[in-house]
Parts: sequence; C-alpha cells; structure tokens
Amino acid sequence: MPVIIFVIFLIAVTQSWWLIGYLGLLLWLEWLGVRGWRMVLAVIASWLLVTLGVVLAPDSSFAALIGWSHRGLILGLLCILGLLGYSQLLALLRRHEVALPDRAPGLLLRVTDGGEPATAAPPERSLSDAELTRYARHIVLRELGGPGQAALRRARVLIVGAGGLGAPVCQYLAAAGVGRITVADDDRVSLSNLQRQVIFRSKDDGQPKAQAARAAMLALNPHIQVTALDRRITADDVALIGEHDLVMDGTDSFAARQAINAASVAAGVPLVAGAIAQWEGQVTVWDPRRGAPCMACIFPQAPAPGLAPACAEAGVVGPLPGVIGSMMALEAIKIIAGAGEPLRGRMLIFDGLYGENRLMNISRRSDCPVCGSGHFAQG
Ligand SMILES: [Zn+2]
Repeated sequence: MPVIIFVIFLIAVTQSWWLIGYLGLLLWLEWLGVRGWRMVLAVIASWLLVTLGVVLAPDSSFAALIGWSHRGLILGLLCILGLLGYSQLLALLRRHEVALPDRAPGLLLRVTDGGEPATAAPPERSLSDAELTRYARHIVLRELGGPGQAALRRARVLIVGAGGLGAPVCQYLAAAGVGRITVADDDRVSLSNLQRQVIFRSKDDGQPKAQAARAAMLALNPHIQVTALDRRITADDVALIGEHDLVMDGTDSFAARQAINAASVAAGVPLVAGAIAQWEGQVTVWDPRRGAPCMACIFPQAPAPGLAPACAEAGVVGPLPGVIGSMMALEAIKIIAGAGEPLRGRMLIFDGLYGENRLMNISRRSDCPVCGSGHFAQG
C-alpha cells in the first residue's frame, strides 16, 4: 500500500502518465495476493526492466515515452525500496508484538488449588503471515490485538453438543482461531436438524455429528486442531474437562447439563452455558471458582416433567440457536482474551418473539450441593 500511494504521488509530481500503467500493474499484483517480499521482488524486477530499456536504447520511442533519465529511474527505485523496507519493518514489529507471551492475557488464568498455573504454557510460535491476514480484524481490536489472538490460539475449548447451539459455537470458535477444540456429541445428523444446525450440509445426513462438525471446522480454518468425540460427556469426565480451559455447553437436556456442570465445577473449569426453547434463549457463564454461581446454585432440581420440553417437542425457531450460540462464542472469546466483562454472575435472557433482552444478576449459594462450602471458598 505505501508503494501505491508513493506511485500516485510520483504521478502527481512528475506528471509522467506512463506511471498510471505501472500503478495498474501493482494494483493487479496486489489483487492477485502478491504481498510482502514477493511484492518487493515484483517492484525490483519491473523497475529494472524499465531502467534497462531506457539505458540500452536511449533514443527509442519507449525511452521517449518514459521520459526519465536512468538516474531518475534508479532514484525512484531506491525511494520505493525504502518505503517497502519501512512497511516490512512495521510488519516485523507487529509479528514480534504478537509473539510476546508475557503480554498475552491468558485464560488461562486458570489456577490449581496451590495457585500455580494448571499447565505450563506451550512454547510460543509467532503468528504466520496467513494467520495475521486471517485474524486481521481481531488484531486491530484494542481489547484483543496480537496478545488476545495469541491467547485464542493457546486456548483449549471443549464444545459439548454439536447441535443448534453447538453449530455457531463450533463455527465462530474455529473461525476465531481457538487453537485446540474438542467437540463431543453422540448423535447423528438428521434432516430435521438442518433447519437450524447450520454447520451441517444435506450430504452429512446420517453422519456422526462430532465428525461432521470437525470436518466443517477444519475446512473453515486449517490452522487449528480439532478432536471429535462420538460420545456424551458425563459427570465422570472430570479429567477430560481438566485438559481444557473452557467448556461450552450446548446440550438440550437437564440431566446432561447437570452432569457437565458437576464435572466442570470439580475440574475448576469455567462453563459457558446457553439454552433455547421456542423463541427464547438464555446465556451465562457458570464459574464458582471466580465467585459466579454454578448451574446447581440456580437450578438445584430438574424441572417437573413436561415443564421444560426439549426442542423436538416444543419446537424452536431456526435463527434462535444462531443468536444464543453466537453469544456463547462471544463470551468464550472474551474470557480467553480477558476482554470486557463476561456474563459471570449474570444471565442474559433474549426474547426473540418480542425483540427484548433482560439481564438478571445471579449469585452463588453457600449450600449448593455442587459448589457450596467444602468445595472451595466463596470468592
Ligand atoms: Zn453451585
């Protein structure tokens, strides 16, 4: 880009209209995706070619068209190289900033009971050019930047349920560059899922959901690792959850949610939970280790049969899981990057039919059977 601005400047100052053709060539190269050092080579080669033409045949019509002495051409080339060097230096500095692990806010503030980080940080490699381009809109965000993006790449997230809520969670977390994703679901894709589970295609009918979701995520972003588990997550999966920094619960039964909550509390891992029915959804972050309630603090008992029917019985409008699942992915990115205020101790309720939002404050219960006293201190 600095080169293109410089060429426009040259056109204005020298009124050498052949430079417009040269500018066109540079814009065409950039449109083809030629950037960085490849652009430097293209500029040197094209400029040398023009200089050579003028030097070898000073009396030709080509030299008359160019109208510059070869000294002028060499000076122009030096100016362009200087500018390119400057932009390369900026890119280099930006990459260096991305690689600074100390500045990366971490999720990864997760602690063991001894207060030490649960796992040692893996060795950091700086983001590649392709990754810098892919995540450019994140990197310019003040609250994320290079350190936030590096934290996303370090993060390990377990997505439980690749259904309506899981679909946008998988897509947005994969697209955002969450480095290691595990997706667990024991179900298979059916035609009736496709009205809202937008991660699947018609050809996935009958395929295991976890596998199909993994393939879709890797197709979206080859820079991440995805593990598919064709099974349910139960209260016994404390060790598996402990290998992750964050759990995303997109399951649709109270029993499954209860089990995932208990295992996440036992593992000390925050849990982003979303729920939907018909036109309404809710999202919150269960995180008793940081003073927020767990699910059992707020919903200690299963609702009476028939009171909270699953989507299959009650129905759900297609875009609703998209709204709530996207909010869950947003919470995950905030927690991982340490940005803003996650929905800890707050529950957001969205009413799609009337376009209304409500925010409820929710608190921990000291007598909670899952996270109450005896598990860890209220904070
Ligand atoms: Zn609790």
